[in-house]
Amino acid sequence: MKPPLFDYVTPESVEEAVAARAAEVDSVLLAGGQSLLATLNFRIANPALLIDISRIPSLRGIDVNDSEIIVRAMVRQREVELSEAVHQANPLVREVLQNVAHTVVRNRGTVAGSIAHADAAAELPAMLLAVEGSVDVQGPGRKRSIAAGDLFQFHLTTSLADDEMIIAVRIPVLPPATGWSYMEFARRHGDYALAGICALVTLDGDGRCTKARLSACGIASTAVRLASAEEELTGDMLDETAIARAAKAARDAVTAVDDSQASTAYRRHLVDTLTRRTLIQAKGRVA
Ligand SMILES: Cc1cc2nc3c(=O)[nH]c(=O)nc-3n(C[C@H](O)[C@H](O)[C@H](O)COP(=O)(O)OP(=O)(O)OC[C@H]3O[C@@H](n4cnc5c(N)ncnc54)[C@H](O)[C@@H]3O)c2cc1C
Repeated sequence: MKPPLFDYVTPESVEEAVAARAAEVDSVLLAGGQSLLATLNFRIANPALLIDISRIPSLRGIDVNDSEIIVRAMVRQREVELSEAVHQANPLVREVLQNVAHTVVRNRGTVAGSIAHADAAAELPAMLLAVEGSVDVQGPGRKRSIAAGDLFQFHLTTSLADDEMIIAVRIPVLPPATGWSYMEFARRHGDYALAGICALVTLDGDGRCTKARLSACGIASTAVRLASAEEELTGDMLDETAIARAAKAARDAVTAVDDSQASTAYRRHLVDTLTRRTLIQAKGRVA
């Protein structure tokens, strides 16, 4: 199908973009277009105005410092995936991105766009939760930061106000003595995951877990942090018993109902298996 008629503007600054958004309630931002154009073509969305943010110079570029990776809003997923500086700072990011769609989609799609889109099955929101990242947000005359834990409210719904946009995504660098892993199960490579798990474990000198961070996509109405599973690991050696307890707690976090892709029971089985595997891999990667 063809998209409905809409007006189209190409602001050259963030200020112009948020002003255009504030002036037309029935407007939508266009970044890489990899999710938005499908909703237009299927006439799920019918906005009066498209605000194309791809020509705003201040939304380009990645910065990496000692504490975090800053990905500005128009940086494409593929650029982040290929960045050696990002990979050195936090190797979880590339591992997750390699599971997002296909290379051609990642060539256009942005990291910020995927996070703003907030698909419950998308990998990047789960990654942002696991690394305890945040987004920088701008509205007319105001800026704020939203922690990942406060961002995702429901499938395709975030806590961004209607007149706000993400201008950058902040991803903390991997802490010392921390191992990482992302694994998912999708019916075909490049499909959204039926279930995906991010795991980060920090160990002390004796191999005891001082901090565990687990998150999931595809199993609930948003990407979710698996706090109960994390509690099963913190303070313990990551042996088979602790990992089995965490896998059971993760499995209990599945709230997605049966759908055409998978039953709840099958998703629980996937979460159990993926939690065990990611924890074993993350533990093995602690340097
Ligand atoms: C064939 C195919 C397979 C895919 N498979 C996967 C997959 O397996 N996993 C996955 O995670 N994704 C998948 N995607 C989606 C892809 O990752 C998209 O690129 C991404 O979801 C949206 O990024 P975008 O830059 O294209 O955003 P757009 O499509 O341009 O925008 C998406 C939404 O986010 C809003 N938005 C964009 N940027 C901002 C901003 N800076 N501030 C506020 N709101 C903003 C837009 O207004 C719109 O509502 C797939 C897409 C395709 C076409």
